[in-house]
Amino acid sequence: MNQNLDTIVELQRSLIELGAAEQRLHGIPDWMRELHEEHAARKAEIESLEEAAAAASRDRRAAESAVADAQEKLKKYQQQINRVSTQREYGALLHEIDTVKSEISGFEEQAFSSLERHEQAQRELAGKRESFKELDERYAAELGRWEGEKPEVARQVEALRGQILALKERLPRQVVAQFERILERNPGRALAPVRLIEGPRKGPREWHCGLCNYRVRPQVVVEIRNGDGLVQCDSCKRILYLEAEPS
Ligand SMILES: [Zn+2]
Repeated sequence: MNQNLDTIVELQRSLIELGAAEQRLHGIPDWMRELHEEHAARKAEIESLEEAAAAASRDRRAAESAVADAQEKLKKYQQQINRVSTQREYGALLHEIDTVKSEISGFEEQAFSSLERHEQAQRELAGKRESFKELDERYAAELGRWEGEKPEVARQVEALRGQILALKERLPRQVVAQFERILERNPGRALAPVRLIEGPRKGPREWHCGLCNYRVRPQVVVEIRNGDGLVQCDSCKRILYLEAEPS
């Protein structure tokens, strides 16, 4: 029986559980992912309509102030009419007046169409907000449920961290260092199970690395089972272990 190896197998299992628990704690849980995505999409729709309504309002104010400026100009030109002395000046002034009048009607049209855009966006917004209400309430309730689950998951994370620390303390320092080096190169899985599989052409069954499938010699399997050192796969360099044999 290989004591260090058993501890390392347990350490690897605890690390995997810790990863999953941390994911549950900080990520969106699977059971509310769909709702979360729907909620985010509908919220984004509402925000983009709000932005469109605000832009239409800004356009309308800009067009209205352009109308007011142009009307001022028109008033001035009309006051000048009595003071012109030549036919040529009169003709030029009439031309200016025509120009500014057509500017005014252009700006008025812009103001009107911005107003229409604004009203259209507001109508759509009212409908979307109304139908969002139910989804938003459901989402808030699920969020509450998730928040309620978090303390338990946080406790699990703490417990696993303690367990991992204790397991590392049971191992010689250089074994921990070796394990961590291999873990760094193989994120999440520093260990590989050794498995018996059918040999070529229905020959005797052979031992193979369960992750990279490289062949493992029978003497090595004995060493894994009975020795006290760690054996790495010749190919993928992960630490080899034997899965619990079914009884
Ligand atoms: Zn391997």
